[in-house]
Amino acid sequence: MRPECAKLEAMSPPPRVPPPSPHEILSELDEMSPEARGLQVCDACGQRFAGKPAGRGLLMWTRGEDVRFEEPALCRSCAKAITVAGNALLEDGSDE
Ligand SMILES: [Zn+2]
Repeated sequence: MRPECAKLEAMSPPPRVPPPSPHEILSELDEMSPEARGLQVCDACGQRFAGKPAGRGLLMWTRGEDVRFEEPALCRSCAKAITVAGNALLEDGSDE
C-alpha cells in the first residue's frame, strides 16, 4: 500500500452504525431521569415512586422582589412523617 492510500483510508468515514432497535431505545429510556419516565422523586428521602405524590412540601424563596414557590413531591412515608411531626408541634402549643 502506498503512503497516499493509507492516508485516504484514514480519512474515510467510519463504517455505518445500524440504527438502534426499538428494544435498545426502550433500555435507553430506563436510564432517563425518573421525572422523564413519569416517576416522582421524594424530596425528603430521594426514593422514587410512581403515581401521585402522597404530599408536597412547600419551599419559598425570594430573589429581590421576585418570590418563588416550589412544591416538591413527597413519598407516602415522608408525607406521613412530616404531617405527624407538624401536628406534634401544633399540639405542643409552641406557636410563638
Ligand atoms: Zn420520602
